[in-house]
Amino acid sequence: MNRVTHLLGIKHPIIQAGMVWCSGWKLASAASNNGILGVIGAGSMYPDVLKLHIQKCKKATQFPFAVNIPLFYPQIEELFEILFEEGVEIVITSGGNPGLYTQRMKNRGIKVMHVIANVKFAKKAQDAGVDAVIAEGFEAGGHNGRDEITTMCLVPSIIKAVKIPVIAAGGIGTGRSMLAAMSLGAEGVQIGSRFAISKESSAHDLFKEYVLSAKDGDTVLTLKELAPVRMLKNEFYSRILKLYQKGTNKEELKELLGRSRIKKGIFEGDLIEGNLEIGQISAIIESIDSVKTIVQEIIMDYESAKLNLFSFHD
Ligand code: NDP
Ligand code: NDP
Repeated sequence: MNRVTHLLGIKHPIIQAGMVWCSGWKLASAASNNGILGVIGAGSMYPDVLKLHIQKCKKATQFPFAVNIPLFYPQIEELFEILFEEGVEIVITSGGNPGLYTQRMKNRGIKVMHVIANVKFAKKAQDAGVDAVIAEGFEAGGHNGRDEITTMCLVPSIIKAVKIPVIAAGGIGTGRSMLAAMSLGAEGVQIGSRFAISKESSAHDLFKEYVLSAKDGDTVLTLKELAPVRMLKNEFYSRILKLYQKGTNKEELKELLGRSRIKKGIFEGDLIEGNLEIGQISAIIESIDSVKTIVQEIIMDYESAKLNLFSFHD
């Protein structure tokens, strides 16, 4: 047991990341039923859809699960009402100032974690009273920090800067990478991409298969003028690249991005026009597995890597 497993009431110190259009109640409950923290990603859900997913998740698991809320969600007050009504016990916030909401949740006994990508925001989150921070590095899919700090450099600097537990994220998809993060001093890991293409993910099969075919170098961090995101290269990305090559601005990029491109790519399987957000670790994912298989594999890999590490020093 460590501070993270104790805080969250889970067997293994692993969080299944909240990912838009992937992590509905099916993925979250499967994760929780397999000894890790399942997370419903609220970013892509209208308030009534979130309510439904929380209710279905409560029926599908007796174990703790969390909801991830991007703090710039349009009707955020409505989401908080739903969290309070439904008695959600763990909340992960991201992409905004945790100062505004953390104490409101803490006053109701909710455990709060906040996603950060540099030291300044980690300290701010600690000051706001969060229970733990999730330090997410440059390798991660989807929304990314502006400073482009890799997980390897980010985790030790956050551990130095705060006293609360640090959970490492970005580029972690195997037991070996989990062991690396724990060796840096992280007390848990958050894993996204591997679960994005699990059997229980709500992502479209075409998206899952495209991710499987990804090689190293196939994802890029782009759209920094709007909000930096990591995505797979495809026709939509080629169009972004053409704009950059000719010289572009925020307005033009915004117009090209339009609306609902993540839904198009991940949920509807439009590999040409969709925004296919996924992390760098996609390059080494080899199959579409159930959450149960993924968790078992990660734990076995972690334990065997740990043993091998010691035998290396004998
Ligand atoms: P069900 O499994 O009962 O139903 C799934 C619903 O989603 C159906 O209406 C189906 O439309 C639609 N759907 C499923 N896969 C796709 C797809 N690849 N592309 C377009 N539509 C799809 O519901 P759940 O319990 O899984 O989910 C309940 C609600 O939550 C649904 O409205 C669902 O759309 C939404 N959802 C939202 C997620 C998000 O991240 N925002 C993630 C998962 C679900 P049809 O009847 O035409 O097949
Ligand atoms: P867009 O503006 O392109 O589109 C909004 C999308 O969100 C649509 O697909 C829409 O569904 C859906 N949606 C769900 N709830 C609402 C709501 N209350 N109001 C408006 N739209 C809603 O946004 P993105 O798809 O780029 O991002 C949507 C959200 O997901 C943002 O809050 C963003 O921060 C978050 N996000 C988080 C990521 C992460 O890494 N945690 C990664 C990417 C996005 P519909 O098409 O059915 O109308």
